[in-house]
Amino acid sequence: MGGAPLLRLARVTKAYGDVVAVRDLSLDIPANEFFALLGPSGCGKTTLMRLIAGFETPDDGRIYLDGQDITDLPPHLRSINMMFQSYALFPHMSVAQNIAFGLKQEGRPRQEIASRVEDMLRLVQMVGLGERRPDQLSGGQRQRVALARALIKRPKLLLLDEPLAALDRKLRHDTQFELMQAQRETGTSFVVVTHDQDEAMVMAHRMAVMRAGAIDQIGAPREVYEEPATRHVAGFVGETNFFEGRVIQYMPGGVAIETSKGLKLEAFCQQHPAIGAKVTISIRPENLRLSAPGVFSSNGSAGEILDQVFREGLSSFRVKLDTGDLVHVRKSVSEGGAQHARGERVFVSFAPEHARALLT
Ligand code: ATP
Repeated sequence: MGGAPLLRLARVTKAYGDVVAVRDLSLDIPANEFFALLGPSGCGKTTLMRLIAGFETPDDGRIYLDGQDITDLPPHLRSINMMFQSYALFPHMSVAQNIAFGLKQEGRPRQEIASRVEDMLRLVQMVGLGERRPDQLSGGQRQRVALARALIKRPKLLLLDEPLAALDRKLRHDTQFELMQAQRETGTSFVVVTHDQDEAMVMAHRMAVMRAGAIDQIGAPREVYEEPATRHVAGFVGETNFFEGRVIQYMPGGVAIETSKGLKLEAFCQQHPAIGAKVTISIRPENLRLSAPGVFSSNGSAGEILDQVFREGLSSFRVKLDTGDLVHVRKSVSEGGAQHARGERVFVSFAPEHARALLT
């Protein structure tokens, strides 16, 4: 992507009294991107959205949209819209009137409004339902009306705060794909705040994982999953197993560590920790090998299968290692995932290139 990004945050800080909600944060979002902001409660996601929308002013730093400094522009003068968690539909207005609201306020001609409302109804698959009132709609339909209302003014950027939080699990799943389609068809960049890492992994082109007002890592979901930059990211995005220890040796492309329980493990490492430095190895459940005792004898530990859960074609095992560590191992049935019994002795190990040694 060449040229200026659609949205640029340059070293933005926002504090409420002693609490620094967003700290010296820089971020570029290009046009036509589905971007997800992820992180634990209180990490600053909502504050960041409110700064972008213009409901808050930064204490420091600047915000640019399409190259224009919008830091001091009020919300209604920014080509940015925000869809709130509650949807905030007007209960006394029809679906069509709700969707038309923004254009009416701008004083657009009736015919143009009618035709753009029709376009929006088509976009959110609500053709024929324009005359209903919000209380005559399902939760999923209300969500679609809110989306149509937020998009009708063709903002360059749409901010969505937990857009699927009010929906049940099955509906959330289907609605994810509808949101992705709406983003593709309009070309508007979406910035979605979510607690739900699965949701971000499915929908986003890129995602940012935040912690304490700052971004720990930005990248494509798969890259963040496979190459977590910090322990926080590894633990927040997807399930993982951690082994803490100290570096005892450098290996080609990685390090060897010794845990406090005397386990010696090797893992890939992108940083350069000193000998003796504390590091954490992160290894995803699907990257752990389960084998009969005696097949492998290094980079792992013997242990015993504690229990097994079968779900969606995958077997998840909890294994108690002889060191006392508890690990999760996940195998598909085709990998022989169903073949281990409770109480069975196994050797749990991994290839160093499948694990990441992280310094922070
Ligand atoms: P959640 O996922 O729970 O919504 P969040 O990541 O959106 O959390 P923010 O709402 O941005 O987090 O809050 C970041 C920090 O700033 C928190 O410590 C919060 O208590 C604080 N904070 C947010 N708004 C205010 C405010 N108006 N006054 C004082 N402190 C605030």
